Amino acid sequence: MAGVRKISISELGPGIGNAMLIAVIIAKQTPRKITSKKNPGTERAVWSFTLRDTPYDFINASYWGSVENVNSIASGLHIGDVVEVMNVKVNMRQGNDSEERFQPCVTSPFQLILSENQSTVQLQRPVDEFDADMYNNLIHLLHIPTKAPSSFITIADILASETSTRTEFVDLLVAVARVSPVKNIKTKDGRDIECREVTVLDQTNSNFPIQLWEPDVIVQSGHWKPRHTVLFLADVRLAWNNFHRSMGVSICSRTIITENPDTTEANVLREYAFSAPIAPSAVLDQMANSISDASAIRVVMSVQQVIKKASRNMVAEENFHRNSEDSQFSCLIYCFVTDLDLDGVSRVVVTRCSKCQATMEDTFQGMCPNIDCPVGSGAVIAKPEITFDIRVTLSDHTGSLPGCRLMDKNAEKVLGCTPTGFQHLTPEEKTSLKWNLLLERCAARVMVLKANSQRQVPLISLLSCDPADPSEVAARCPRC
Ligand SMILES: [Zn+2]
Repeated sequence: MAGVRKISISELGPGIGNAMLIAVIIAKQTPRKITSKKNPGTERAVWSFTLRDTPYDFINASYWGSVENVNSIASGLHIGDVVEVMNVKVNMRQGNDSEERFQPCVTSPFQLILSENQSTVQLQRPVDEFDADMYNNLIHLLHIPTKAPSSFITIADILASETSTRTEFVDLLVAVARVSPVKNIKTKDGRDIECREVTVLDQTNSNFPIQLWEPDVIVQSGHWKPRHTVLFLADVRLAWNNFHRSMGVSICSRTIITENPDTTEANVLREYAFSAPIAPSAVLDQMANSISDASAIRVVMSVQQVIKKASRNMVAEENFHRNSEDSQFSCLIYCFVTDLDLDGVSRVVVTRCSKCQATMEDTFQGMCPNIDCPVGSGAVIAKPEITFDIRVTLSDHTGSLPGCRLMDKNAEKVLGCTPTGFQHLTPEEKTSLKWNLLLERCAARVMVLKANSQRQVPLISLLSCDPADPSEVAARCPRC
């Protein structure tokens, strides 16, 4: 086209007309309807989106037009699309503009104004006349965070933060742990809307929910993969979450999501997420393994008291905070081991993949069944680990706790042998080892993960089990 000049975001200035810009959409918002001031009674619409053409240059744009036209343009373009925009108006950003608070933070001092009658926004594909290298460079920008790569805070920081009356925005680096199905919800004013909960993790927390409400983000999250997708979330809103009764974050119109950021910090988190404990039993095993001195646990409880404290309590859930102190507890129980099968058919020793902790079946010796794991896919060879994985029942005069987990290092201490050593014992020696513990009065220290809305039964891990002195039992054992 004659007279049209292709320029980049960094070259923009006021008064530049008839220019063409090629950039990638890194954020988009839902179009808004606005009542026209010029023609009262008529409605117009505006759609805001954010464009980027280098790691350093990004700018907000607004497209104005009739409601039908704006909705049609906005529904055809998505985050990650490369577009060509023509005949735009370049305005200086107004720093104090209230609009700015609802838009992503950008580096350009300008903003782009497009209108239905003057401007065009067109999707670009890498075809012959279009430089494929340039296209790929633009697509790669989707993996570069819009903030400093180490500017983020952790999930633990969020949970520990104070509720504040002013709006606060923070940056987060998280890995996806779970993507729930899309739910349909009826709003208070009767509209049907969709929402999706995504659970994310970092090195400080493995179970942090984020609610998604933006239609485009809900679609985008459909291809996020647990343990694989890492997200840099720039400017999520920090707020009290009434439903989860804890501090939380929400994705808002200011947020820019960078999928799988190409940064050192993201690679470290991806490596961690790959084998991070996500299942409640894995979380409990990790916590139980990290206790160095179980003898410091001195709070005595009866089995009945443990059952009561560990079961789901709706009143307590009202005050439930998603930090680990409130979802778990540890205590000392004076009890008997009433069920322990070391010499029968129960599993005692398991072989695990040392990379991803998946249990290896006896029928496929040394094969990791997890195809997402480098060992499972055959890319890496790693020696499997042999560990204890035992279930015991603890009982006292008030009741029984079946299925307590006796795992790994704690099992080695309780049994006084290693897993390999155990495998070499004769059947008679295994029986004798069992009777060392069975039906003996002991002081058992346990860690309990309480039942909750996702898991109806509590999970209990046996940390240590020592013979109990009868006088100590008489003095300290609760009656009920
Ligand atoms: Zn594996």
